[in-house]
Amino acid sequence: MSGNSTISTTRKLDVQQLRQDFPILQTEVYGKPLVYLDNAATTQKPLAVIEAMNDYYTSSNSNIHRGVHYLSQKATSEYEIVRQKVQRFINAEHLHEVIFTKGTTESINLVANCFNRKFLKPGDSILISAMEHHSNIVPWQMACEAHGATLRVIPMNEKGELQMDAFTDMLDETVKLISLTYVSNTLGTINPVREVIEQAHAQDIPVLIDAAQAVQHIPLDVQDLDADFVAFSGHKMCGPTGIGVLYGKEKWLDQMPPYQGGGDMIKTVSFEKTTYNELPLKFEAGTPAIAEGIGLGVAIDYLEQLGLQNIYDTEHALLTYATNALRQIDGIRFIGQAAQKSASISFLINDIHPFDIGEILDKQGVAVRTGHHCTEPIMNFFGIPGTVRASLAFYNTTEEIDKLVAATKKAAMMLG
Ligand code: PLP
Repeated sequence: MSGNSTISTTRKLDVQQLRQDFPILQTEVYGKPLVYLDNAATTQKPLAVIEAMNDYYTSSNSNIHRGVHYLSQKATSEYEIVRQKVQRFINAEHLHEVIFTKGTTESINLVANCFNRKFLKPGDSILISAMEHHSNIVPWQMACEAHGATLRVIPMNEKGELQMDAFTDMLDETVKLISLTYVSNTLGTINPVREVIEQAHAQDIPVLIDAAQAVQHIPLDVQDLDADFVAFSGHKMCGPTGIGVLYGKEKWLDQMPPYQGGGDMIKTVSFEKTTYNELPLKFEAGTPAIAEGIGLGVAIDYLEQLGLQNIYDTEHALLTYATNALRQIDGIRFIGQAAQKSASISFLINDIHPFDIGEILDKQGVAVRTGHHCTEPIMNFFGIPGTVRASLAFYNTTEEIDKLVAATKKAAMMLG
């Protein structure tokens, strides 16, 4: 595991016990207990998160930041406490380096828009990798098109690992920013982000880390990593949809123009001239997702109480168990076999279409994702239409993996 912060003494999680915190895990689909293995798409939410959002609407609902009345101040303080929790969770140096967004996609779009308006010129280039989510491809394509720059792609090998030699060779004076996923949502690859950042910084190139698939699995310390920007989504870390984070170093955020115009991001407005607010509000136009922010704060409390290192260890053991069990299935082919892997397993069986396997798994109560997982270039690289992806979380069990394996064998028999 690369890029982890100080590792505390690890503790074995009581998975059966903590599953009780997630109401949806007690439900059935088609009369069978739900086996939820689509965690890379979104994680389930503990009751504490659901109740916190309910409580907010029941007893604090009000618009924040500008109101002098009691409720507005209460809601403002509940919301702003979350910024402090995020700061601590990722170890940002300054509170104002934590910007709330709708999610990873918006965080990346914000940087692609504002950083590039300030720094990108014709002839420059942006580096991404061959394993990026569409959300970390398209915003850069749009920015490059707008500014006459070139998008260049760091290649990967057949195992789904970044080709670091090629990366080193690509670092030249045209590169203005590198945007790289920490963990591939499709392949599970954990990228050597620390090494990438070190090499980039040796040439004064800033790095954005897409941590959408990392922040819920691996301890993240932005200062230790020395990342310039980090993007992630609340809903993939046991929090609600509609809220996410952009961490940015003050030195970059200060120089970047605002993203959107409107309430909260202004200091004064006249028809002749508007002046912008200080960080972080400069990048937060309009009424934010208040209940969702509060839910995110409770999700962070929840993950911290389990301990990210404990989560990593639990999921890593489950990944090993699942990989070994699936390997016994005739005709299985794993897509993504990096040495450093997070708990997402993509596979195919002979030439059966992944969608057909997914449908049969679904009828047996097993929720996996099939298709390109918003990473079409990965599918093109491997020359495949898509994969079946089982993405695990700390609340999954070996019994659930056994059900996945049994259901997959059944699908292979029916479709083979
Ligand atoms: N980046 C990665 C690696 C992802 O896995 C995802 C979502 O699956 C995203 C970005 C986009 O996240 P969101 O849809 O929450 O903005």
